[in-house]
Amino acid sequence: MLLCFPCGCNPLAGILHPNCLVMEASLGIQMDEPMAFPPQRDRSQAEGSLKKNEQNFKLAGVKKDIEKLYEAVPQLGNVFKIKDKIGEGTFSSVYLATAQLQVGPEEKIALKHLIPTSHPVRIAAELQCLTVAGGQDNVMGVKYCFRKNDHVVIAMPYLEHESFLDILNSLSFQEVREYMFNLFKALKRIHQFGIVHRDVKPSNFLYNRRLKKYALVDFGLAQGTHDTKIELLKFVQSEAQQERCSQNKSHIITGNKIPLSGPVPKELDQQSTTKASVKRPYTNAQIQIKQGKDGKLMKQSKTVDVLSRKLATKKKAISAKVMNSGVMRKTASSCPASLTCDCYATDKVCSICLSRRQQVAPRAGTPGFRAPEVLTKCPNQTTAIDMWSAGVIFLSLLSGRYPFYKASDDLTALAQIMTIRGSRETIQAAKTFGKSILCSKEVPAQDLRKLCERLRGMDSNTPKLTSDIQGPASHQPTVSEKTDHKASRLIQTPPGQYSGNSFKKGDSNSCGYCFDEYTTNLEGWNEVPDEAYDLLDKLLDLNPASRITAEEALLHPFFKDMSL
Ligand code: ADP
Ligand code: MG
Repeated sequence: MLLCFPCGCNPLAGILHPNCLVMEASLGIQMDEPMAFPPQRDRSQAEGSLKKNEQNFKLAGVKKDIEKLYEAVPQLGNVFKIKDKIGEGTFSSVYLATAQLQVGPEEKIALKHLIPTSHPVRIAAELQCLTVAGGQDNVMGVKYCFRKNDHVVIAMPYLEHESFLDILNSLSFQEVREYMFNLFKALKRIHQFGIVHRDVKPSNFLYNRRLKKYALVDFGLAQGTHDTKIELLKFVQSEAQQERCSQNKSHIITGNKIPLSGPVPKELDQQSTTKASVKRPYTNAQIQIKQGKDGKLMKQSKTVDVLSRKLATKKKAISAKVMNSGVMRKTASSCPASLTCDCYATDKVCSICLSRRQQVAPRAGTPGFRAPEVLTKCPNQTTAIDMWSAGVIFLSLLSGRYPFYKASDDLTALAQIMTIRGSRETIQAAKTFGKSILCSKEVPAQDLRKLCERLRGMDSNTPKLTSDIQGPASHQPTVSEKTDHKASRLIQTPPGQYSGNSFKKGDSNSCGYCFDEYTTNLEGWNEVPDEAYDLLDKLLDLNPASRITAEEALLHPFFKDMSL
């Protein structure tokens, strides 16, 4: 049972005392004071000073945030010393704290402060996921929960972890196997409870490389399956529903598109994991998503560049539409069947379609990790969407590119998927979940092994790794990139050496690996077994009904010598 420390109230039973603070907080934070701007002699010195100043500015900001948190939830001060801010997303800020909870050494705790505007049911559901499913099989657990008025802080065991981007190209093949195995273990666990995580991505799967520890975190977007064992997930409104409510509300009352009390769309969070990637202009191809005759418009046409400089030999224009096919008409349509339009199978959107109501289906998550059925707004989404996201992570690990897909919107994301999995295949699969996609050009499916080896800098004819060592491969755009981008400088690197600058010491969360340990580990990469690509293929199955489950993935021959 989850108890609010230290007064022992139970948040899940709705007895979270608003004033369970015991006494005034004694802050006891020690942080460096901002340094004065030093005299500059030359350019590099000036740059160094600028950086230092930036850091000091940041530190001052963090110090302020910590003070504010102590003020907002004073009982924290009785138990914790908050040391640093380790994460900041759209819905929360996460802090590293220490606590002397029992006799013994100080314990490290992660404190997740949820934004005060979060819906109470959402917060309670996130907590329930952690308490019911968490604490084992690589799913993060929870220690305590604090609340003062509308401020809620979840205290979890702290897991020091790596930045995915920092270590991506230094992982040995065996480490990749272990990473994926442990991710499936966590997914199996939550899926057994009928939890769809909806935001599976590296920053939500903490990895301590040295200790070989893993933890799936962030149930802030989780939803329940129809038979979920997490009671509160039954009451969680889908993002789409919230969106619809807020749209209605804003239309009538304020005209403001941002809900006043609901959460901000999670997709804004995409930026946090894609900061390092290069901006890619999308030009030359068209994709259009809308519903068919009796559906309604989903999105107007966009101009997108869907072909990567390395993934296709020449640019092609793709124009696609996604429509509800007959299968879904009954449930998804709100328009009379007799109402016909003249834009069916064309690349235009007629006024009849424009007047149709927005289709409602969950879309939460990070665009680059969204499954095709999410991107096409399929209303019946299952745990399979998490498996697709796991597939995208695996694709990054095998290709050495992160983020693999970076799309500003769902149509671009769908077009990017087509360039890897094929347009015909995508169209075919979409039919199975009631969506009809129109595509102006055909793009073939890629051979996953060839694709990953090419991106990784492996020549499949000569099984020797060649690293893209002039810059972190993970910073290189992957799909939808300009053809003239200097992506593959295939420079041979002796095993165990890395002359680039991406494998530096991690950030404040990283596990203290020394520089040497971040060097490229070529072990196993010259003989990636077919099983790896077979598993990848099954994860990136465009059809959610046949996509591999977490339980099945753990039994896949790729993990033949690994046990649960
Ligand atoms: P958000 O909803 O804002 O994304 P998360 O729960 O994903 O919040 O946490 C944000 C970040 O905080 C994570 O990516 C991770 O770096 C850090 N974090 C979260 N929980 C923990 C934890 N238990 N231990 C260590 N770091 C954590
Ligand atoms: Mg997160």
